[in-house]
Order: sequence, then structure tokens, then C-alpha cells
Amino acid sequence: MADIIDGRAIARELDKKTKAEVEALVAEGHPAPGLTVILVGDDPASEVYVRRKMAACEAVGIRSSEHRLPASTSQNALLTLIARLNADPEVHGILCQVPLPDHIDARQVLRSIAPEKDVDGFHPVNVGRLSTGTGGIVPCTPLGIMKLIGTVIDDLTGVNVVVIGKSNIVGKPVANLLLDAEATVTVTHIYTEGLAEICRQADVIVAAAGAPRLVRGHWVKDGAVLIDVGITRTKDEDGKTKLVGDIAFDEVQHAKAVTPVPGGVGPMTIACLLSNTVQAARAALNANTDVSNDYADAPARSMFTASGSTPN
Ligand code: NAD
Repeated sequence: MADIIDGRAIARELDKKTKAEVEALVAEGHPAPGLTVILVGDDPASEVYVRRKMAACEAVGIRSSEHRLPASTSQNALLTLIARLNADPEVHGILCQVPLPDHIDARQVLRSIAPEKDVDGFHPVNVGRLSTGTGGIVPCTPLGIMKLIGTVIDDLTGVNVVVIGKSNIVGKPVANLLLDAEATVTVTHIYTEGLAEICRQADVIVAAAGAPRLVRGHWVKDGAVLIDVGITRTKDEDGKTKLVGDIAFDEVQHAKAVTPVPGGVGPMTIACLLSNTVQAARAALNANTDVSNDYADAPARSMFTASGSTPN
């Protein structure tokens, strides 16, 4: 029987730490960390995500504010707002919810957020630092995935990990984190041939394809650890919406451990956003201090020992 990796419980523990760090900052006489979320347009899914993020901020004592802009907002107006937030010392984290309307160049918007306030970790400076193992803000979902793996595996040195999906927000950054933890990493994607056979070799599978039930039971070797990042909305027989992951959960009882969908990676993503915001606030207190995620509970090595470590 595979163990269930309870993402909700692990996220609650991380939130407790984050709350304690917020309280420590306030006790030292600093303002509580501040996260600003920008929402352009009225995409219903984005509205739900933003509401959840703001409620999560409140629960740990992070000040959150929201800028709701109409879908017709010009790119210049959005960039002007971001420039103002970059300069505001009360704002420690800036998050621009995607997708953005078609007339706005999302890449330029992400690049305009100050790297030290880019709590999503999507700015090219943070991406570059992640890929060279030199600190910076780590994207929330990959960071959450590492923490989940860390609850099952202490040391990833030489462990064979297969990542399914090579997106900039999940597949590539998680592959970099895994490499930094000295895992042997195979990154696969839609054009990879023989995926089932590749997965059968894996000690750990991180499935981030958005392809429901892609990873079948016979793709998984006995005792593997399975992290299911995929979320696909489908309807059950009663017409109710349900979320389906990339792993055929009912077929993998021979695995060592598996994350459920929902209740696995999802809760960790928001908990890591809060944690990133507090790290950004702490780093802002001293221009020489770098953002350094708390990786103590992640099975990682070089980049997790200290920020700004020597590239290797
Ligand atoms: P994406 O569409 O940007 O990338 C998907 C990747 O998977 C691509 O590299 C593609 O080549 C690969 N892929 C697609 N179908 C495949 C298949 N059949 N076989 C092998 N590879 C395949 O998606 P993304 O933004 O990285 O998100 C991936 C999934 O993770 C989605 O379901 C998304 O909803 C989910 N997600 C969850 C969280 C969370 O917090 N739980 C966060 C981000 C993304």
C-alpha cells in the first residue's frame, strides 16, 4: 500500500513556520511583509486563485493588497503600476496573475518586476540564478515539490528522477533543483519516445504534463516515489467537476509514496508563495542579504546550504 504524501498537512507546517517568521519581523519593529497581487481582466479561475492567495496571506499575518485592472488596461499602464510597486518599500512581493490579456506581453511584464520582489521566481535573473545554483527566489510549485520529496527521501544523491513536462514554471525549474540536489535527472515531454519504459527506471517520478492519468500503474516500479503536479478539471458521472492528476492514482499501490490530487502539490504552491514573501521581506532589510529559501526540509545539497553559493 503506497503512503499518501499529505500536501495539506505539510503546507500547514510550513505556514506555521512562516507565521512565526512574520511575528519575529514584527517583534523586531519592522512592518509585516507585504504581498501585492495584480489581476488584469476577469478570468474566473484567476479570481479564485487570487482570493485563495489573499486569504492565505491573512492567515499567516502577511499584509496583502490587490490591484484589479480592467482587461482593456494598456501595457504601459501596467508597467507604470509595477514600477511604482517596485519602488514602494512597504511592498516586498509582487505577483502578476497570468494569463494576461492578449495585447499585453507577459514576458515583458514579468521582466519588469524587480527580481528581489519577484516572489513567483519567474524573472530571468531568478531563473538564471536557479540554473547556476546561486540563490535567488525559487518558483513556488518546484520549491513545494522539493519539500514534498524531502518528506520521503533524505538524500537525492544519485537517485534516478524522471520529470514529465519541461515548462518554465514546473518542469525546468524542478529539474534544476533536482540536479542541484545531485539527483540523476531525465526530463521528458510530449515528443519523448518510450516514456513508459523511461518511467519504469525511475526512483522518483514528477509528473507535470497536464495529461490526466498519463502515468499508468505498469509505468511505475515497485517502491517509487510519485509526485503528481497535474491538474485537469473533468466532470464525474453526476456532472460534478472533479480534479484529475497525471498519475492513475488507483493503479500505483505498489509505489512507496504518492501525492493525491487534490491535496498534494497544490497546497504547497501557496505555502511556498507565502514563505518566499517573508524571505523577500527579510532580505529587503539589508541590501546585502540575499533571499535564501528555507530548504532545511528539502533533500538538497549545494544551493540549499547557503544563498549565493559558488556555482558548481
Ligand atoms: P505546460 O502545458 O506549460 O507544459 C506541459 C508539459 O508537459 C510540456 O512540456 C509538454 O511537452 C508535456 N506534456 C504534455 N502532454 C504530455 C504527454 N502526453 N506526455 C509527455 N509529456 C507531455 O503545463 P505546466 O504549466 O507545466 O503545468 C503542467 C500541469 O501541472 C498542469 O496540469 C497544471 O495545471 C499543473 N500545475 C499545477 C500546479 C499546482 O500548484 N498544483 C502548479 C502549476 C501547474
